[in-house]
Amino acid sequence: MARKFFVGGNFKMNGTKESIKAIIKNLNEAQLDPNVEVVIAPSHLYLPIAVDAVTASTVSVSAQNVYAKPNGAHTGEVSVSQLKDLGLNWTITGHSERRAGGESDEDVASKTKAAIDGGLSVIWCCGESLEEREAGNTVAVVEKQLAALAAKVSGDDWKKIVIAYEPIWAIGTGKVATTEQAQEVHAAIRKWLKANVSDAVADETRILYGGSVTAKNSKDLAKQADIDGFLVGGASLKPEFVDIINSNQ
Ligand code: PEP
Repeated sequence: MARKFFVGGNFKMNGTKESIKAIIKNLNEAQLDPNVEVVIAPSHLYLPIAVDAVTASTVSVSAQNVYAKPNGAHTGEVSVSQLKDLGLNWTITGHSERRAGGESDEDVASKTKAAIDGGLSVIWCCGESLEEREAGNTVAVVEKQLAALAAKVSGDDWKKIVIAYEPIWAIGTGKVATTEQAQEVHAAIRKWLKANVSDAVADETRILYGGSVTAKNSKDLAKQADIDGFLVGGASLKPEFVDIINSNQ
């Protein structure tokens, strides 16, 4: 099955009303490859502005995080139903910057399940630290993260999940994984899905690479058999994001 190329932009805690509108205007006016699904994730505060500003038919808006519990006494959190109320259909879960703040594999899996049950699709992030890579544990770490996810989701839930493999040592560092390093882990993720979930999920799930993706390295990465797109941080705030979106052409 052909997997639709997917490019996410994680704005993190960056931007202002004006700069976010300007980024979106640039996307609205660009010639975006119509075969690429694009999802941008500004901080929660700017989600309504982003939803109103997007006119490009292939661009959707995502949250960067969501809470696993329904509405109630959870100060400072944002619920799945509140995101749906804004018209959103996506959230990111398990970004390494949140895992570093204390989210466990199980917490991330719970959020992912709550998001899917509430009608959102999810960009679920995984990846190893430099220490874990140097110890030869990359695949084991990612498999442990996947196992926690697979313990909570099942069946059609997988159709709502896009996996983002993001080696922590490559995020925001300018140190991109080589095409071989990225492809190797993507293939291992697909193999794990085949062995532990199903042939169909392994075949259909999009696996994105994230970590210092730029317009310079995206074309080569996009050629790898198991790389189905990107999750982009820093470069998603710049005009070159359009070239990254179009890198599969
Ligand atoms: C990210 O935050 O998901 C990311 C990949 O960041 P950057 O592209 O800046 O490395």
